[in-house]
Amino acid sequence: MKIRKYLCQINLTNSLGREGLTRNREQEIYLSGKYTQDLDTQTRNRVYCSNSLSRNSLDKLSTETRNRVYCSNSLSQNSPHKPGFCISAQNMWSALGILLALWMSGCTAPSSNISAESEGKPLVVSTSTIIADMAEKIGGDEIEHQGIMEPGADPHIYEPVPADSVAFEEADLIVYNGYNLEPALIKLMNAAGVKAQKLAVAEKVTALQNPEQGELVPDPHVWGDAENGIVMVNAIRDALVELSPEDKEVFMENAARLVEELQQVDIWINKQIATIPESQRRLVTTHDAFEYYVKAYGLEMTGTLIGMTTEEQPSAQTVKNLAEEIKKTGVPAIFAETTINPKLITTVAEEAGVKLAARELYSDSIGAPGSEGDSYVKMLISNTQAIVEALGGANY
Ligand SMILES: [Zn+2]
Repeated sequence: MKIRKYLCQINLTNSLGREGLTRNREQEIYLSGKYTQDLDTQTRNRVYCSNSLSRNSLDKLSTETRNRVYCSNSLSQNSPHKPGFCISAQNMWSALGILLALWMSGCTAPSSNISAESEGKPLVVSTSTIIADMAEKIGGDEIEHQGIMEPGADPHIYEPVPADSVAFEEADLIVYNGYNLEPALIKLMNAAGVKAQKLAVAEKVTALQNPEQGELVPDPHVWGDAENGIVMVNAIRDALVELSPEDKEVFMENAARLVEELQQVDIWINKQIATIPESQRRLVTTHDAFEYYVKAYGLEMTGTLIGMTTEEQPSAQTVKNLAEEIKKTGVPAIFAETTINPKLITTVAEEAGVKLAARELYSDSIGAPGSEGDSYVKMLISNTQAIVEALGGANY
């Protein structure tokens, strides 16, 4: 019903304006951007995409919300998510009479196919792309899923957009990393109005404590160890079973498949790293995201340019010290990361006289669809290949 109501609201927005409306309906159709300050926060968030933005923002919305805002002014028929009920610009005027009649009679337009498909399914919202990949695989067709971040986004500095609070407000379950990986999203999630169950999935793993600005804090990058990945998968599975017990069998089966894959990958990584000459099993990365990986697979962390969070900027002295350390230890190559600008680590490589590995490491995000690291399992494999290749291990 919600969707039908919004369909009527947003079609009227384009062409009819405010005249002749009651106060209540007038407010409903203030979806055209400049009036949004008159709306309550929830409604304002829902209409965020309406004028100024952008199918990028639209992609961040749940299907239901996307349907609500799709027809608004500027998104037009070019949107990749064109739902069945939208009318094209060309047909706007001829359709207007019908829409007006529908609205006057209580808005009984047909709802979209997309909403019918997702009806009754719980909405699961995941913060990072790694978690989103797990939740999608475990939930399968039994859930509606929405990931907040895009591949390549850096969770440490991710700034939420209004559409994210809509997603949180609508979610039945929010799966987030925790250990402060995504500080701005955690803050938003804890704001009033978010009623969903929440799972801090990385916090199911006992964290390594690493020094950060003079004190020990939990390291959030637990997924670097595939065994920790298994803990995360099982925690998401349990949360989904609790959310939708009737789909238990499907969740158990999907999770078991992913766990088996991760067990095999875990064994494979160990074997691969073992082919690197022992003196060269040393990792230098841009930020400190690989402590779990090195610990699990027998490498040593020689150094990082910046710490566990990516907010800080390294000083010239830090760059110099790291370059010295690299020279001293004889590390053959160092690594850039997909979520961080490679400029500074390139400078370090030049100063140290070592090569920058040909392939970047996937640190805090999976890769874009179609890339080598476009799933959690594939990012572990791709990272291992990159490391073995650059540090002189055997061909695989
Ligand atoms: Zn990180």
